[in-house]
Amino acid sequence: MSTVTMKFGGTSVGSPEAIATVADIISSEIDNGTRVIVVLSAMSGVTDALYNSVREAAKGNRWAYLSCSQKLRDRHEEVINLLVRPSKARDALMADIDNLLKQHVELCEAVNILGEATPRIIDAVLSFGERLSTRVVAAVLRERGVQAQAFDAGEFVITDDRYGSANPQWQETQARVNGSLRPVLERGVTPVLTGFLGATRDRHPTTLGRGGSDFSGAIFAAATDSDELIIWTDVDGVMTTDPRIDPRARVLPYVSYTEVGELAFYGAKVLHPKTVQPILARGIPLRVRNTFNREAPGTLIGPNSEQSSMVIKAVTSVRNVSLLTVSGKGMIGVPGIAGRTFLAAANAGANILMISQASSEQNFCFVVIDDHAHEAKAAIENELSSEIARQDVDGVDVLSGVAIVTTVGAGMRGTPGVAGRVFTTMGNHGINVIAIAQGASECSISFVVEERDLEAAVIALHDLALESVGVTA
Ligand code: ADP
Ligand code: ASP
Ligand code: MG
Repeated sequence: MSTVTMKFGGTSVGSPEAIATVADIISSEIDNGTRVIVVLSAMSGVTDALYNSVREAAKGNRWAYLSCSQKLRDRHEEVINLLVRPSKARDALMADIDNLLKQHVELCEAVNILGEATPRIIDAVLSFGERLSTRVVAAVLRERGVQAQAFDAGEFVITDDRYGSANPQWQETQARVNGSLRPVLERGVTPVLTGFLGATRDRHPTTLGRGGSDFSGAIFAAATDSDELIIWTDVDGVMTTDPRIDPRARVLPYVSYTEVGELAFYGAKVLHPKTVQPILARGIPLRVRNTFNREAPGTLIGPNSEQSSMVIKAVTSVRNVSLLTVSGKGMIGVPGIAGRTFLAAANAGANILMISQASSEQNFCFVVIDDHAHEAKAAIENELSSEIARQDVDGVDVLSGVAIVTTVGAGMRGTPGVAGRVFTTMGNHGINVIAIAQGASECSISFVVEERDLEAAVIALHDLALESVGVTA
């Protein structure tokens, strides 16, 4: 019997109609004799609403979290009323929903009294989105005769205590899945698991980072040794660029793990950047499919980099980033400055998105998200204070209001002149390239441009990608 892990995103569980479709997809797969593990996001917009409720609670805005709670109740109740027939079980489900919403309000009351929301409380508040959606969808599945049961992923996914972007502890997670989830599967039960969530060893809820339920899907696919992971979303697959920036975007039939890793890291929202991590070693195939267009085959993601006529397969972008430059004449040949800089930035909590060094060694620059730029600058200047005092290092410059645009494609590695063509294209469109870097995997090239040039740069580079498959602008 084959086992498939299916993850459904926020839009896929965002309305009663969408949930009915999701239930159809799952039950027809089970009817075909497949064992299904279901991983869900919160209904679309719910995580944002919960985040807003706890922030407003910290400001003393009681009305905001009470009305959020009421709206969440209405949205989930609507699904239940439409898709679950009246019964004792339905009453029990509604009581369960009310109990979760009561806990949400209680946490917000505590935040209101304290006047501050800690990362731990924020994660606890955010956990309600997925805990609500899973209960509702499990009930809808039972209504259709599927033996489904909702579970909080915190029972299985054990993480460290980096609230807001917690890291799974693999061995413990695997042990819990073996000990507690496998027996559920053996009994023929279809588990409906909360995406996005884990828990620390002492049972505090954690979240894996925004958009993290894709990662959860991959964690469960790997831990249960699934034959396939299917990520069901609201587009036909992984596309040549974000269709909201360029509507000419096309679905890519095949992308390698490495390529998709770069795509996600450099801004393609369709998959969380960590999604491929758990499935890579086991070679579990990943398919991205559209809940609202089940005829479409979607994108297959696997280990091989296929021969494709596309040198540049996709173009992605990241907004709201800053370029930090460390420069100084005394840096030439001094070992360790770059290493100390990156360590200081990492210790300040800044995630480095790209690094570029001029061949003169008189400066190097790197990109972090805007929110981390000033903390990173202060931490680096502190680390390099003696070099700065000796005037070997001038200091750290911060250039905000920039963006990263990335071209991805394994074919770029063996094709001479790609970087040249890309530069010419940018020049022809009057786009100033501030910095450039090649990804370690050699299947991506990233550029820093002014934020106002982002869309023009994406469209110009997307032209190159489309040209290679014979589509002209
Ligand atoms: P879900 O809620 O299902 O996880 P997301 O909104 O997180 O869905 O991700 C899907 C969205 O990602 C699409 O609606 C699309 O607008 C956006 N997107 C950005 N870049 C790409 C890309 N290269 N391919 C496909 N979708 C992309
Ligand atoms: N609900 C979470 C979020 O909005 C996780 C996800 O959708 O993947 O970030
Ligand atoms: Mg998503």
